[in-house]
Amino acid sequence: MHLAWGPEEEAFRAELVAFIAEYAPPEALVQRDFAGMGEPGEGTEIVPEWARRWQAILFDHGWMIPAYPPELGGRNATPIQTLVFLEELASRGILRSLHFPGYAIVAPSLLEFGNEEQKKLAPAAIRGDTIWCIGMSEPNAGSDLAGLQTRADLRDDHFVVNGQKVWTSYATIAQKCFCYVRTDPDAPKHRGISVLLIDVDTPGIDVRPLRHINGMAGFAEVFFTDVVVPRENLVGALNDGWRITQGSLAHERGGLWVEGVARLEHGVEGLITLARHFGRDGDPVVRREIAQMYSRAASLRALGYKGFTSFAQGSSAPEHSYMKLATSETGKRLYELGMEMQGAYGPVVDDERGYEDGRWIRSFFTSFANTIAGGSSEIQRNIIAQRVLGLPRS
Ligand SMILES: Cc1cc2nc3c(=O)[nH]c(=O)nc-3n(C[C@H](O)[C@H](O)[C@H](O)COP(=O)(O)OP(=O)(O)OC[C@H]3O[C@@H](n4cnc5c(N)ncnc54)[C@H](O)[C@@H]3O)c2cc1C
Repeated sequence: MHLAWGPEEEAFRAELVAFIAEYAPPEALVQRDFAGMGEPGEGTEIVPEWARRWQAILFDHGWMIPAYPPELGGRNATPIQTLVFLEELASRGILRSLHFPGYAIVAPSLLEFGNEEQKKLAPAAIRGDTIWCIGMSEPNAGSDLAGLQTRADLRDDHFVVNGQKVWTSYATIAQKCFCYVRTDPDAPKHRGISVLLIDVDTPGIDVRPLRHINGMAGFAEVFFTDVVVPRENLVGALNDGWRITQGSLAHERGGLWVEGVARLEHGVEGLITLARHFGRDGDPVVRREIAQMYSRAASLRALGYKGFTSFAQGSSAPEHSYMKLATSETGKRLYELGMEMQGAYGPVVDDERGYEDGRWIRSFFTSFANTIAGGSSEIQRNIIAQRVLGLPRS
């Protein structure tokens, strides 16, 4: 059997490849191991200038979100063209953006649930001109998001917000927060939640950076004390915010697995080079583990295409709920193996003695975050057990 794209898809790909050759800056072509975690290293900006310019160029040429119309940074691409696009970028390790909340979560949510004024905020979110953060998690509400307690009391024409968010990525550089708040403390917990658009420089907001284990100050705690937010900043209906949690990423949901699989494939290639470099390529245990990683990545790619076929035909793709769990957990083991092979030199970040200037230790640390962010592995397993396999709640 020979699996290949047709001439139309290949023409689309050729146009993309020509665009990349002409416009992609060298910094975008360095095959990062992990998406969306910013640049490594002390004091490095989380979203450097080159990444902001690159995102704007993609938008201006209709390559930021190809499925969208040109005024939203796209070219009305079909689902198959979108898959080709994601695949081509992923295989080259190119990121569209170093900050995903604006283009991947806020813009689709505003376009689906916002009023006409709020929809006008979408182009700047996709182009990266406005940096957004997402205020969901709180000290006592992470996996159980519906338990959030940050309150917004409606007083005539404005809300007064009090409470605390945590793990808020990009809050240190964001202009706006897409913030989930409790507007009816007496309603059942999923029903009393609303979404407010909050300017991060509003008086009463205190953003305190938190450092990741990989050294980046990528997220923050955000405290709200009597923060006044105009009523027109409410997205959708009052107390109807839960519906909005489901609204993101609709335009590329069928292709999101591509990046995770490409990252694994890239990691397997790195493992082989590493094994050769450290003289471990003859070790039967190492060989078996690398072969397992390789076959897992290949199976996941096949599973991804299978799910995409259902998605492109308008059906649901239960395979895709497994992909996030499988790619993040396999990634964790892959980087752990890379660390084991290097022995005592593994944690050294230094281009003389540390192999690849600390790529493996940074990726190893970051691999833990991928099994937590966007729904932890345990929660993914619960979802698969109940919604895909039809098992009873434990
Ligand atoms: C890199 C990164 C970026 C993030 N960015 C953002 C952001 O921008 N905005 C934002 O709002 N949040 C963000 N988060 C937070 C993320 O959404 C939460 O960490 C995640 O939802 C888990 O919540 P928690 O940390 O409170 O853990 P908890 O919910 O307290 O869970 C603790 C442990 O218990 C397990 N557990 C919980 N409930 C169950 C259950 N029912 N069954 C089995 N096991 C369970 C979990 O799997 C976990 O291992 C980010 C997290 C990371 C790692």
